[in-house]
Amino acid sequence: MKGTAMPEQKILLRNIYHLVSGANAARQRGVDLLVEGPQIAAVGKDLAAPGARVIDASTKLVMPGLVNTHHHMYQTLQRNVPAVQNAKLFDWLIALYEIWRHLGPDAIRVSTTLACAELLKTGCTTTADHHYVFPEGVTQDLIGLQFEAAARLGMRFCATRGSMSRGKREGGLPPDSVVQDEETILRSSEELIVAHHDARPFSMKHLALAPCSPFSVSDGAMRDAAALARKHKVKLHTHLAETKDEEAFCLETHGCRPLGLMERYGWLGEDVWYAHGVHFDDAELRLLASTKTGVAHCPTSNMRLGSGIARVPEMRALGVPVGLAVDGSASNDSSDMLGELRSCLMLHRVLGGAGAITAEQVLELGTVGGARLLGWPEVGTLEPGKAADIALVEMDRLDYAGALSDPLAAVIFSGCSHEVHTVIVNGKVVVEEGRVLGVDERALRHEANRIARQMLERAGHDTRWMM
Ligand code: ZN
Repeated sequence: MKGTAMPEQKILLRNIYHLVSGANAARQRGVDLLVEGPQIAAVGKDLAAPGARVIDASTKLVMPGLVNTHHHMYQTLQRNVPAVQNAKLFDWLIALYEIWRHLGPDAIRVSTTLACAELLKTGCTTTADHHYVFPEGVTQDLIGLQFEAAARLGMRFCATRGSMSRGKREGGLPPDSVVQDEETILRSSEELIVAHHDARPFSMKHLALAPCSPFSVSDGAMRDAAALARKHKVKLHTHLAETKDEEAFCLETHGCRPLGLMERYGWLGEDVWYAHGVHFDDAELRLLASTKTGVAHCPTSNMRLGSGIARVPEMRALGVPVGLAVDGSASNDSSDMLGELRSCLMLHRVLGGAGAITAEQVLELGTVGGARLLGWPEVGTLEPGKAADIALVEMDRLDYAGALSDPLAAVIFSGCSHEVHTVIVNGKVVVEEGRVLGVDERALRHEANRIARQMLERAGHDTRWMM
């Protein structure tokens, strides 16, 4: 097993085949890029860098690391479960809650490691995760375990402390054994902010508050989260306008649409980003734009669960901040971030035609768009002074052959594997020749399969095909 990725003093990417320093920046060929400490020091021809580790980039596309703005990493252990392969969101949730009741610290550690490893291998350098299942009797700091796992792999990580306070007893969807009372949620949230949130430039750890959704959280918990987040200047996140069932639930229970409800709770502004936002109407899109409230667009999940198509091209035109996200692994069912860019490109052409969205626009959503939602302004472009979060894609490959008249578009339009060659996060190499350095991939696979099997068995699922 290789050890944890060690800090590099200086890294020189030599003779870059195709440098994409940002979605809208001029592309460059034959330049070098120098990394010093956590940041990019210089970009130019024939840079002198005595003592630097030199990486030959003469066949590589070099682009900003991707940013994933919404995930549920624990779900990597319940992907593709036959009982819910063809279920829509509410039925899917009700069935899976019965498995998630058995979540423990080992499952959290292993699933976070697994999801981060997949994200890194597909060019993602910064990720959020929305963890909201805290089963009765589990006393360990599950969010702390997530930060440890991400740090071991060297990934920039925004944990969002999720919560559910409206169980079946209160007319909500989740079983009562996975919901917590408002006081416990508030206390734990504040402890986690104090322990983990680091707002300094080049920080590797952010914490945001993320009550799960209008149909699993009480009014008090939504209001408490907003007040606490603003007291500590951290961000707010939740699921919103994902399905028509959610809309019907809000109309029946609260007498208003989902965004109207969130407005009542004080959940609008630059410090808020919602996952999905599929079913916003015209007035709601204008409200999001005028308040700079953000949306994490999850194209694969929306297709997988049949939730609908978010109005992303219109959001972009209006100025709504939008990022991209893979969403939970049980509704994707992968953590393939480069693949998510492709899904985004394709999905919007179904409704809007071939001109609905371009490869550059999709890259923008997947880089600076996401970094803005998560509050990392130094992330998302490759310029001197910005974070050295970089993905290198080998372009001398069979599946890109013939596609190189536009190398950036090639990695989104073409390719039968979305795995990249090298990944650098905050100035450290964390993926080398396609291998994640912070973990033994074989041991990780075996452990993940073992725990997944155990959890499914306890919930009475058929596990006869599992390794
Ligand atoms: Zn989600």
